[in-house]
Amino acid sequence: MSDLASADPGPDSGPDPGSAGLELSPDDWRQLLARALADVPVGAPLPAVWRALGEAGVLRRLYREGNALGPVADPARLGALLRTVDARGDNGATLGVLVQAASALPILGSGRSGRSGTAGAAPSAVAAAHERVLTGSAQVALAATDEAAAGSDLSGLGTEVRFEDGGLVVHGGKRWVTNARGAEFLLVLARRRPGRHFTDFSWVLVPAGTAGVTVRPAATDLLANAATGHLGFDSVRLPADHLVGTNGRGMAVFARHMSTERLAGAQWAVALTGRVLADTRERLRGRTVDGEPLWHNAVVRRDFAECLVRVAQLRALCEDLAATAAKGQNLSAGALLKSAVGLTADTVLARCAQLQGADGFAPGGAQTVRAEAAVLGIGGGATELMLDSVADMSEQLLAEWRT
Ligand SMILES: Cc1cc2nc3c(=O)[nH]c(=O)nc-3n(C[C@H](O)[C@H](O)[C@H](O)COP(=O)(O)OP(=O)(O)OC[C@H]3O[C@@H](n4cnc5c(N)ncnc54)[C@H](O)[C@@H]3O)c2cc1C
Repeated sequence: MSDLASADPGPDSGPDPGSAGLELSPDDWRQLLARALADVPVGAPLPAVWRALGEAGVLRRLYREGNALGPVADPARLGALLRTVDARGDNGATLGVLVQAASALPILGSGRSGRSGTAGAAPSAVAAAHERVLTGSAQVALAATDEAAAGSDLSGLGTEVRFEDGGLVVHGGKRWVTNARGAEFLLVLARRRPGRHFTDFSWVLVPAGTAGVTVRPAATDLLANAATGHLGFDSVRLPADHLVGTNGRGMAVFARHMSTERLAGAQWAVALTGRVLADTRERLRGRTVDGEPLWHNAVVRRDFAECLVRVAQLRALCEDLAATAAKGQNLSAGALLKSAVGLTADTVLARCAQLQGADGFAPGGAQTVRAEAAVLGIGGGATELMLDSVADMSEQLLAEWRT
């Protein structure tokens, strides 16, 4: 990822014009979120959750400003959105909302200023798709992880975009894409020329119904509502206006928005671990051994307190780095946050699952939640890779701490 650090922002995008002047207090925002999802039953398919958020104006109000690489999510609003969706206890739906709200939709937004045809003509395909996703009437999947390379080797990706006969041709395949089976629009990271330089890649908007696109479900029972799948692109032909943003700026845009996605992952991890800790505490208070609630056992209390401290640390890190990570100005914020999630979530959720005894094995119980939450340490960059980036940035970080 170090080549991404030098990515040069370009002038092709700004704030979403529709979001201007939408001031809301944190309380108003929480009420808006609650109203948006009030009539959506828990377990409803992800498109219904997304549609409700769009129709209530939540998605449009999420991005209050923008920079040269696209819309910037308001970190506090993003955190509250994820807490509200997480409270419904459907981790697949939360993952689907997270990826779209934190990275896919903003990446689409980074290319929406393009126009088809002459000046003043109809919005480009990208602008039109962005608007549909923002209103909740369509969904977008972000397809970066490639069939031709390990997910941890993003610059090795094989999916190609070629310019041919005035249009685009996309060929290749993507794996483990959240919402691959439910999204009308696929945002595909493709290489425009051989090489590993950050300017060798571009984003392409591929409508899921285009000839040559195939979708296969990923073989897993976990995170069912995330509709995860694998995508194939067999020489898929598209009009030229399906290129998202400036040709060759794909990795720069991705790095900027992955930073927001990493913040969102940390915000979700805080909400999820907090929810499971609360449930575990209630169970321990009600479960007795020799007439005493397990909650009074000294070992149990110490372990539980350790979990609380870990989550409190993650929560504090979110607060500290939220603004920097959301703006994507500094890649160390995202790497630190995602590393911290990897070091926190599984430890806490494993201890909670153990403390729930056999009940943790119930369908959708703490053991399943723990397995589903493992996506926090893999999706969007494995923990080891994030720690590698933190080590790369050690000199800069230590220097900052001395000032
Ligand atoms: C539920 C789910 C949803 C996903 N959604 C999306 C999506 O919407 N869009 C998308 O593009 N991708 C998505 N992914 C893919 C995800 O981003 C990749 O799985 C991730 O980048 C890791 O790639 P990989 O699975 O190929 O693992 P690999 O790169 O093969 O790595 C395997 C393991 O090797 C170890 N490892 C890797 N690199 C290092 C290193 N540098 N140092 C030490 N150890 C290392 C880690 O333990 C890692 O988990 C999703 C994955 C899951 C599980």
